[in-house]
Amino acid sequence: MSAIVRDLLPRQNRFVAWNVICCRRCGQHLSRPVEHVLVMPEPQHLDDGVGYEPTLAVGAWAIDPAPPAMYPNGAPAGPLGCFVINPADGLELEPHPEGKRNGGCCAHDGLDGTNRRCASCHAEVATLRDDCWSYVELRFEPSAVVAADVSP
Ligand SMILES: [Zn+2]
Ligand SMILES: [Zn+2]
Repeated sequence: MSAIVRDLLPRQNRFVAWNVICCRRCGQHLSRPVEHVLVMPEPQHLDDGVGYEPTLAVGAWAIDPAPPAMYPNGAPAGPLGCFVINPADGLELEPHPEGKRNGGCCAHDGLDGTNRRCASCHAEVATLRDDCWSYVELRFEPSAVVAADVSP
């Protein structure tokens, strides 16, 4: 996107587009209607200094140009361009049946691959992170979903 177009966007970091994240394989709706925000927000620490606020507000989604993490050698640990939403906006997702995918100390750290599948066709579509120390987000694989336009 050009700098000129970026400057014309409203200050509150909003597109006018509303989308539903859908399973690329079967078309199942996997999110509530969510408003596309231009810039992936920086995760903000909670007051405890350990945990994080949800990266995306309820009702918003963003594309993260960065990978979810980096290996020590600097290689991306996961795909670029994930579709990220607040976990509360996810729909029709089921836990991955492999227990280790759902690991974490008290919730999901998302460090062992995708941990959420499409409840309709069982495609591996997303990674839920909501542990006490991790970012709090639902991160869709860009190869597994599409963002369909909807009316708000
Ligand atoms: Zn924990
Ligand atoms: Zn599906």
